[in-house]
Amino acid sequence: MPILIKNATIVTQNAAREIKEADILVEDNKISGIAEGIKEKTDVVLDAAGRIAMPGLVNTHTHLAMTVFRGYGEDLPLHRWLEEKIWPIEAKQTAEDAGIAAQLAFCEMLKSGTTGFAEMCIIDTMHMFEAAAKAGMRGLIAQGVLDLGDSSKDEALLKDAGSVLDYQTGIVKASVAAHAPYTCSEELLVKTKELAKQKGLMYQIHASETRKEVFDILKRTGKYPYEYLDSIGLMDDGSIFIHGNWLTKREIELAGKKKLNVSSCPVSGLKLATGGITQSKELDAAGVNVSLGTDSVASNNSLDMFETMKLSALLQKHHYWKADALPMQKVLDFATLNGAKTAGFDAGSIEEGRLADIILLEKGPNMRPGHDAVANIVYAAGPQNVTDVIIDGKQVVQDRKILTLDEHEIMEKTEALAKDITVR
Ligand SMILES: [Zn+2]
Repeated sequence: MPILIKNATIVTQNAAREIKEADILVEDNKISGIAEGIKEKTDVVLDAAGRIAMPGLVNTHTHLAMTVFRGYGEDLPLHRWLEEKIWPIEAKQTAEDAGIAAQLAFCEMLKSGTTGFAEMCIIDTMHMFEAAAKAGMRGLIAQGVLDLGDSSKDEALLKDAGSVLDYQTGIVKASVAAHAPYTCSEELLVKTKELAKQKGLMYQIHASETRKEVFDILKRTGKYPYEYLDSIGLMDDGSIFIHGNWLTKREIELAGKKKLNVSSCPVSGLKLATGGITQSKELDAAGVNVSLGTDSVASNNSLDMFETMKLSALLQKHHYWKADALPMQKVLDFATLNGAKTAGFDAGSIEEGRLADIILLEKGPNMRPGHDAVANIVYAAGPQNVTDVIIDGKQVVQDRKILTLDEHEIMEKTEALAKDITVR
């Protein structure tokens, strides 16, 4: 159904990063026109006067099944948090539970302007794929595998990693993931990457999240994590390395040469006190495609990409003692263009011919005056500003109401699941 968005302030994110006062025509799943006074007759007309139209945000690192663990296991360092709280409760989670948790996540994502995501789930993803399709979200979902160094389990794990191929549907695509170099044998790392290459799928892995991990890998392999992963064939433009909090200059250079995708998750890193931060400024300058993720709700505790953008910029400024260390336009690029490129979505900008993943933001009191739309988006906006969301040419949020999901029913279901899983 064609959609006409009238009278918007469009933050296009096109090559010239133009901001236009114009209308947008959406036909099928694409943007077919951007101009003043489009007269086309359409069934749906959205009057966007007083609103910003911008490309939807892309969250390049999530663990949606963990959304049901929001507020569970707080104030612990990463390794204790994983070993004492998260891994024991995750072991009790079923694929169906993951689907329910994902539904809650999609409600939050849609209402906060996220239109696409890259997910690593450590249990079967069938119900998650179904939930994403129902929500109308554009996604890239992997079942992340780990063998804790015991490669005798690898055949079964590879089957798990490949199961996503049977589930992918429409705009929800499959991906392959291994959890991390410190939780996987070298055999598993190599075989999962081979599987991804063979099937033409994006590959995801956590790497260089904590200093402990860096020294463990260095002790085991004689190499820093990025150098190690490169030496076994994992580093290329088909891989997303998540975190990258503790990188040497040599690793940054190497990642740039290999055109690697790095997903930075600043909020999660700060909350789990990983100490290091993704050196996004240097990675970007080296030629790495840097994007932003929230990581799981258990370590964030939200899926708010506005907060992630702001913190990402502030951390670089703080780290380098330099107010222009990471300019706001760059951060917006990370969350839109670079995120879409990372996940392989032909989106991330409002241009003719692009997929129609568009959000509308109300220029409320927190976004006035309108000196600078980009500054208002990166430093002042929040989920409360998101009024309408279009994904793949379909309207999925209208006047802050989700059209594809029953938000209240989902909240009730997740409350019941959260209670049940802690006593299971
Ligand atoms: Zn993660």
